[in-house]
Amino acid sequence: MKSGKKETSINAIKDVSERIVKAGRELHDRGLVRGTSGNLSAKIPGTDTFLIKPSGARMENLKPEELVLVDLQGNKIRGETNVSAETPIHAAIYRGRKDVQAVVHTHAPTATAFGIAKKEILPLQIELFMLLPNGVPVVPFKAPGSKALADAVQKKVADHDAVILENHGIVTVGSTIEAACNLNEMVEEAAKIQFLVMMLAGRDAINLAELKKKFKM
Ligand SMILES: [Zn+2]
Repeated sequence: MKSGKKETSINAIKDVSERIVKAGRELHDRGLVRGTSGNLSAKIPGTDTFLIKPSGARMENLKPEELVLVDLQGNKIRGETNVSAETPIHAAIYRGRKDVQAVVHTHAPTATAFGIAKKEILPLQIELFMLLPNGVPVVPFKAPGSKALADAVQKKVADHDAVILENHGIVTVGSTIEAACNLNEMVEEAAKIQFLVMMLAGRDAINLAELKKKFKM
């Protein structure tokens, strides 16, 4: 019985590792990460542990065996490499939201620029509205890797699946690693669209109350 359970968990770790590696490559190919920036993690189903990208690794070159197994306090359980510097954010999100199975952090350029301009991303387009009806708020700046940043992100993620970190990047969550990656890409696209709208028609062209009425019809 016990060894059966162990086998299940080894298989689960293998499955999650392979999906993280694939997701890392796709984040790079979609232009959401460059250099060694960004990190991603996914929970091992049925456990209070998650696998996370190691510090200093490039997303497009991740190897399943170099991912680090961590508990929900952010402590390393298994792995030769150092955990990503933003592990406290990932752990805090998993502690706060039982439904979240994956977390993706990137410096997607347009969405990151919104965080520097201290502007939230609004759900202006119908599909984004359905996914993120509350938009993508900006979490005020705190030092990367700090407990203060992890706490602030945990609080905002309680009712938002995507947040912008001021002067830093974005964080998206999902029920699978693929969903969290797709949301990251959608947030970047939404930032580009909102930027174009503001260039074309100015801030006054955006009336959220009217949009909500229109989309709920
Ligand atoms: Zn970062």
